[in-house]
Amino acid sequence: MSARDAADISRPFQLDPEQVVKLRAWLTKHDRTCKLAAYAGAIGGRLSVTFAPTSLGTIVEAKCACCETAVVNLTDYDAF
Ligand SMILES: [Zn+2]
Repeated sequence: MSARDAADISRPFQLDPEQVVKLRAWLTKHDRTCKLAAYAGAIGGRLSVTFAPTSLGTIVEAKCACCETAVVNLTDYDAF
């Protein structure tokens, strides 16, 4: 990672309203089969969201802790 890359990722990352809607829709569907849906721990941590800045845009994914394949892509490709 270069110093420029570090500066690029020093800004805060957050989901935009469309990404939140997409994430909620995915979670509603995913919860029907997720083994962690009923209990996700006292302090949470079931869901991880990653932001991967690229020269074209930021790739955004959300992942459930239940398994490696429980991932939803939230990337806003229109912003690329
Ligand atoms: Zn799950």
